[in-house]
Amino acid sequence: MQIFKFGGASVKDASGVKNLVDIVLSYDPKGLVIVVSAMGKTTNKLEELVRQAHSGEDYMVSLAELKEYHRAIANELLGDLPERYLHFEQSLENTLMDISQCEAMMAYDRVVPHGELMSTAIIEAYLGRKVKCEWVDARTIIRTDQYFTEANVDWVVTEKQAITDLKPVAEKCVVVTQGFIGSDVEGNSTTLGREGSDYTGAILAYCLNADEFTVWKDVPGILNADPRILEGTEQYERLSYREVTEMTYYGAQVIHPKTLKPIAQKSIPLIVRSFQDRSKGGTTIASENTTKMIPCFVFKGNQLLVTAQVKDHSFMDEKKLGMILQVLDLLNIKINLMQNSALTFSFCIDNKEFKSKRIKELLNRDFILSFESPLNLATIKNYTPDSFNRLPWNRSVIMEQKTSHNYQVLYR
Ligand code: ASP
Ligand code: MG
Repeated sequence: MQIFKFGGASVKDASGVKNLVDIVLSYDPKGLVIVVSAMGKTTNKLEELVRQAHSGEDYMVSLAELKEYHRAIANELLGDLPERYLHFEQSLENTLMDISQCEAMMAYDRVVPHGELMSTAIIEAYLGRKVKCEWVDARTIIRTDQYFTEANVDWVVTEKQAITDLKPVAEKCVVVTQGFIGSDVEGNSTTLGREGSDYTGAILAYCLNADEFTVWKDVPGILNADPRILEGTEQYERLSYREVTEMTYYGAQVIHPKTLKPIAQKSIPLIVRSFQDRSKGGTTIASENTTKMIPCFVFKGNQLLVTAQVKDHSFMDEKKLGMILQVLDLLNIKINLMQNSALTFSFCIDNKEFKSKRIKELLNRDFILSFESPLNLATIKNYTPDSFNRLPWNRSVIMEQKTSHNYQVLYR
């Protein structure tokens, strides 16, 4: 069994879909499950639509644009509009009319999955003209809790459903299904968090005991830095699960962070490779230790530094640190860098206004808080003496940390 994941960029237009089909046709159709995202920037557009519809604004223009975008692709590929596509287009319209009373996160999860549903409806219709394939609604396979917009997978039910309802179909022909979406016990649609299609691929690979999971991307593999930021990037041929997990921890946008755990648990190799240039082998992520790791650079902009100071000249002791960490846990905030001193605890997080507001509300009583943003955070994993020269020179350093392998610097 093989799982392929195609992201939005790979199916952003008709020629992208044709390319996907070319790739699929070069493999054995039996035992192939393809997980597809919404086309191009559709998810952003749907987020805008749900916001408009939920707040009672006029969304007719956005809706018309979204329909036109999909219809143009379908028409170019097929010369008509597949029934299943029209069904989801209608369902999107009905849902938008019906969500003003619905809780915001739940409204989001009722609307946004339509991107994946519409894209796979078009792709299945086109692929079906070339090879036997079947469309599967991922919501009937991936069971989640009701933590709308960031739902957590119920592994027991999902594995059972994958084995009874997905595996027999995949053994016969190519399966086309959606990334990013699932459903709760009541049948409500849920989503797994932005860019969650990688994670869907990993969930299915785990449940079906796949031999391999391939993520087809617009880059030739995993690079040691974002080429838009750093010149002279290098590509990794092989990486261990552990290395990639750490890279995503520091913010490298190579793969959805939740992807690694399920495939590492079953030692399923993950291959990241280019959908544009198939002559390139890409990067293979597997169990073994890589011999020599070249330094990996991760840059994160728009960082917020929060400093909490005790009010009464007592120490910033374990009890007080515990209080602060509990609040961060409650708000689902990840610390990117932290440091403590006798009277203060400073931590750097992604700068999100509503989260800093909540931090203020919850910690103001016990601490003197100060905030600084926007800052930049650079991380070098597996640094070498000369890798420091590649960081921006004109930075004014605010906080720095160095361990035996990793270096992090927060700067203005
Ligand atoms: N379509 C969703 C997003 O854009 C999921 C994904 O692409 O992985 O976030
Ligand atoms: Mg995407």
